[in-house]
Amino acid sequence: MEKNGFSFEISHAGRGLARAGVITTPHGVIQTPCFIPVGTKATVKSVLPETMKSLGSQALLANAYHLYLQPGADLIDEAGGLSTFMNWPGPTVTDSGGFQVLSLGVGFKKVLAMDATTFRADDVVAHKKDRLAHVDDEGVTFKSHIDGSMHRFTPEISMQVQHQIGADIIFAFDECTTLHNTRKYQEGAIERTSAWAIRCLDEHKKLTDTRKEKPYQALFGVIQGAQYEDLRRAAAKDLGSMSSSGISFDGFGIGGALDKDSLGRIVSWVNQELPEDKPKHLLGIGAPEDLFTGIENGIDTFDCVTPSRIARTSSVYTFEGRFNISNAPYRRAFKPIDANCDCYTCANYSRAYVHHLFRAKEILAATLATIHNERFILRLVDQIRQAIIDGTYGDMKADFLSRYSIRRPGAH
Ligand SMILES: [Zn+2]
Repeated sequence: MEKNGFSFEISHAGRGLARAGVITTPHGVIQTPCFIPVGTKATVKSVLPETMKSLGSQALLANAYHLYLQPGADLIDEAGGLSTFMNWPGPTVTDSGGFQVLSLGVGFKKVLAMDATTFRADDVVAHKKDRLAHVDDEGVTFKSHIDGSMHRFTPEISMQVQHQIGADIIFAFDECTTLHNTRKYQEGAIERTSAWAIRCLDEHKKLTDTRKEKPYQALFGVIQGAQYEDLRRAAAKDLGSMSSSGISFDGFGIGGALDKDSLGRIVSWVNQELPEDKPKHLLGIGAPEDLFTGIENGIDTFDCVTPSRIARTSSVYTFEGRFNISNAPYRRAFKPIDANCDCYTCANYSRAYVHHLFRAKEILAATLATIHNERFILRLVDQIRQAIIDGTYGDMKADFLSRYSIRRPGAH
C-alpha cells in the first residue's frame, strides 16, 4: 500500500493480532509497534526535540485544538508546517481536537472516578465547572479555555486546521463519549461520527488536491462505540469500508471510553473488523501493562501524555514499578532511578539528586524525570517490537510483568 509517500508494511506476525511493521511518511519512517510521545503545544514539555530523538522517539504527536487556539494553525502553515516550526525533523501526528473540545469542563477523568448516580449521564460536568462544549449534528461549539472566547469545530474546520498544521498523520473529527453516557446517546454519537467521517474524507480530498505542493498527509478514521461490542464492531465495519470522493482512510484510531478491564476486548473487536493491512493507533493509552494488551490485540502505534505529565509530578517508572522520587526514602539514595535504564538521567544522576531538585522546585527536575520516563516507555515498546520479530513475545511479556509493580523499588 503506497500512496504519495505514505505506506504501511507488516513485516512480522506475532501472537494473537500482534505484528511488527513499518509506516513510511514524507518525514521519515516509524517502525511499529511504536510509542509516540505527546508534545501537546508543539513541545514535549521541558525537553529539547534533539533529546527526544536521542531517546529513540520516532514521531511526536501535537494537539490540533491547542495549536488552533495558540499560536493559530495559519501561523504554523506560514512557518512551513509543524515539523519545521518545532524543529522536529521526523514524522508528526495531530489529533483532531475532538477529545479536547468535548472534554472541556467535563473533567472526563474525574467524572469516571465519581459515583455514576451523582450526575446526569448525558450531561456530565465536573463538580463546580460549567460545561464549555455543546454538540449538535453539524459540529461542536466550545469556549476557549484560554480567554473564554467562543469557537466552533466541524469536520471541515478540523480538516482545514490539521492541513494547515501539516502533520504526516491526522485524525478524522469524531464525537468522544464517556462510559457513563446512555446506550441511546452512544448510538447517536456513532451515527454523528460516521456522518462526520464522510465529511472529513471529502474535505481532506479537496484540501489535498488544492495544496498539491505540500507533503501528503495520511488521514485516520476514529472508531468509537464505548463499551458496547455491537456498536464498536459496527463502527469498525462502517469506517473500515468507507469511501467518499474516491478515497478511504489510510489508517484508524481507536478512541473513546476505554478502561483497563475492557481495553483488550474492545481493541480486539475493532481490529477483527478493520482491514488488516492498515495501521491502527490507540489514542491516549500508554501505561506499561496496557501497551502489551494493545499490541497483542493488533495496535501498531500509541500516544500518551502520561510519561511526561507524571514526570513533572515526580513520579518515575522502573522495571519494578512506579514510585514517587520526592518521597523521603529517596533523599539519600545515591543510585540511579533504574539501574537497568540506559537514559542520560540514569547514566549521570542519582535518585538523591533528582529528589533534591524536586524538593527545591528546580526546573531541571522536570527535564531529568521526563527524559527518564519517555525513554522507559519508548524502550519498552522497542523491546516488545524486537520480541515479536524474534518470536519471544510471550516470554518477554511474562518476564516484564513478573517484575513490574510487584513491590515499591527500594531506596538503597
Ligand atoms: Zn533512566
